[in-house]
Order: sequence, then structure tokens, then C-alpha cells
Amino acid sequence: MTKHKIVCWDCGRDVVDMYANTCPHCDGLLTIEVDLEPMKALKPKDLHREPIGVWRYHGFMPVDRKHAVTIKEGGTPLYKTQALGAEVGVKDLYVKYEGANPTGSFKDRGMTIGVSHAVEIGAKLVGCASTGNTSASLAAYAAKAGLDCAVFLPAGKVAAGKLAQAMFFGAKVLSIDGNFDDALALARKMAERRELYLLNSINPYRPEGQKSVLFEIMDQLSYEIPDRIVLPVGNAANIWAVYKAITELMEVGWIDRMPMLTGIQAEGSMPVAEAFAAGKEDFVPEENPETVATAIRIGNPVSGRKALRAIYDTGGYSTSVTDDEIIAAQRLLGRREGVGVEPASAASIAGVKKLREMGVIDPGEKVVCICTGNALKDPDTIMENSDPVIPCANSLEAVRKALSVQ
Ligand SMILES: *Cc1c(COP(=O)(O)O)cnc(C)c1O
Repeated sequence: MTKHKIVCWDCGRDVVDMYANTCPHCDGLLTIEVDLEPMKALKPKDLHREPIGVWRYHGFMPVDRKHAVTIKEGGTPLYKTQALGAEVGVKDLYVKYEGANPTGSFKDRGMTIGVSHAVEIGAKLVGCASTGNTSASLAAYAAKAGLDCAVFLPAGKVAAGKLAQAMFFGAKVLSIDGNFDDALALARKMAERRELYLLNSINPYRPEGQKSVLFEIMDQLSYEIPDRIVLPVGNAANIWAVYKAITELMEVGWIDRMPMLTGIQAEGSMPVAEAFAAGKEDFVPEENPETVATAIRIGNPVSGRKALRAIYDTGGYSTSVTDDEIIAAQRLLGRREGVGVEPASAASIAGVKKLREMGVIDPGEKVVCICTGNALKDPDTIMENSDPVIPCANSLEAVRKALSVQ
């Protein structure tokens, strides 16, 4: 197993409790320090004997691969866009398509590591509060591991595809009469009682798996470092994970500069973007977040302070986009590139367009957008925003008329 320890990101103390989600001393955020000494003797191509995917990078991961609970997550395509790049004014625009993961979102990268750890420590019941994708992913990995699973969803606020997945994989699905933050508070209470192993992104093991998206991007670009990586920010664990991966590659000497991490939020849910605009290192939570991008409808981002550190330290940026901009970007990606993503994922594309117009992004930059989830997660939003189906009589004449064939 890769040697590692859990440390408090705030007070720096070591944490020995394998169940801990916050620091027992100061209630601070936790992080994991992996011993990277063995990796320093290697080069990226030394890992290429293994197929691309999360477990190629097990030397950076704090679990024993003997306990791996895997359904072959990661290894997602990196598309070089053409029409889309031209449309938003960035020549070298890439899309990392996380919708191609087993349950259709990047959450699988974190869950393979988180659930493997749950097995290592002998947990029986795993659980999470979720805006949808975390629960869909956890339910699948719990099924694979043979663990019981409970998911806490805010009532009426979860996209159909995600809810269907959690139900399908056999989780106990609780619809909590409250918002996401209420659902999370309840799940955390269960975890404090040791009655449930919590796999929200406050769990320090999950971001470890999510680091792999950055390792893959680097492999897929043959280690030509992109100037900028753009991603949507909700609870803000993913941007933190990408940052942590960058710092680890610097530490092992595989890269010598950092891409600018650029976090995009939705206008109705933008505590991190607001803090960035004010130059602050902490954010003010938002009471009633609202956006069509349900995966980033988060008022009180658990890892918000970590996200701000990631952005400042890489010389990155943060801004917000409107729901209309998100829907337009989602459509553009579908219609120009044939790539289907859910609204939250499209926030990254909308963000590039806006930052290009603002002059923050230079047209000559090499930019990678992480498109976090699959279009099929939220079919209702797609159908509301697409051209309606065309009723048509059962005749050739009617078909030709409907298709305007002369
Ligand atoms: C979870 C999720 C996000 C937000 O990621 P955070 O780590 O919470 O910032 C964005 N898009 C999709 C599709 C997600 O599932």
C-alpha cells in the first residue's frame, strides 16, 4: 500500500481516526499526505504498462490495490474540439469527457478509492448526501463491494437519471424534507455515531481518486502542460483534487509549472466566485442557491476554502455564468461536437466563452474543459430546451412535408 497519513489542512495535526471527516482538534478540513518518494524514481511512461484509468496511478493513491473496488472508472476521452473552439475563440480547446465514466460522472474516480477504503476499514453501511451524482456513483460501488448503502437526497431536487441510478443499484434512498445542506447534516450525524461510513466529498479519500483526471489529461497531452484547466465548482472538491494532483506532479518532478485553475459557478449559486472577486480566502455561504445546473446548486461548499487556495496558487480565476449561458453552451457542445453533457458540466464551456470575451483567456491558450457529467443524467432539462418533437401523420406525404422536402 502507498504510505500515507491523514492530516488537518487547517491546524496541520496528524489525524489517526480512519472514520474522521473533520479534524478532532479544530474541526478543520482534512487532507491526505501520500508518500511520493517511490514515484520520484519513475517517469510518467513507466506507468503505461497499465491501462489508462484511476488505478494506473495507484502509486499516488492511499489504498491498497488488493482491496480495489473497481468498475473500470476513468480512462475517459480527451477531445480536441474544432467547431466549438472556433465558436468560443480559443484555438486549442479540449474537452475531457467525464460523462464516459461507468455511472456517467467523474464521481466514479473518487468512489473507487473511497469505497475501497471503506472495505479496508471494515465498514458495513456506506452513505452520502447528494445532489444526485454522488449517490448514483456510491450506489454502484457499494453494490460491487457488497456493502449496504443509504443516500440522503433533498426532496424533489434531484435529476431523474441520477435518482433512477441510485434506486437501480439497490441503495436505500431517503428523500429528506430539506435542502442539500440539511441532508448532509443528517448524514454527518449518522457518521459521527459510527453507524455509517460517510462518502461525501468532505471524506478525504475521495479527492485522492479524483486526482486521476489530471494525471490522465497530462498523459493524453503527452505531458505538454495546458495553460488552463476550467471546471464547474459546486462543493469544490474536484478543483481541489485537480490542484492536489498538480502539486504532486510538481513534487515528483514530472511537471515544472502549473496550469491556471479556473472555477466556474452558476450565477444563482456563486459563493466561491464572489469570494474570488473580492480577493478573499474564505467565502460567505448562500442561503437559497438556485440554478438549472443541479450538480452545482450548493450554497455552502464544503471545500470552498480549498478551492480558493487552488485558484490563487495557480494564478487561476473564478467567475459565474447564467442559466441561459449554461443551456446555450450545453447545446453548442452537443450540436457542434456531438458530445452530450449535463448542465453543470456545460458551465465550464460557458465560462470559457465569457472569460474569452472579457479578455481573461487569451485566444492562443491551450485550454482543457473538464465536462463532469453525462447528458442523460438530466433528460428533463434537455427536453425543455430542445426543439419539440414533430407530430406526423402515418403517410409519406406528411413525412416529406414535415422534413420540408420539395
Ligand atoms: C459533483 C459534480 C460537480 C461539482 O463538483 P464539486 O467537486 O462538488 O465542485 C460538477 N458537475 C457534476 C456533473 C457533478 O456531478
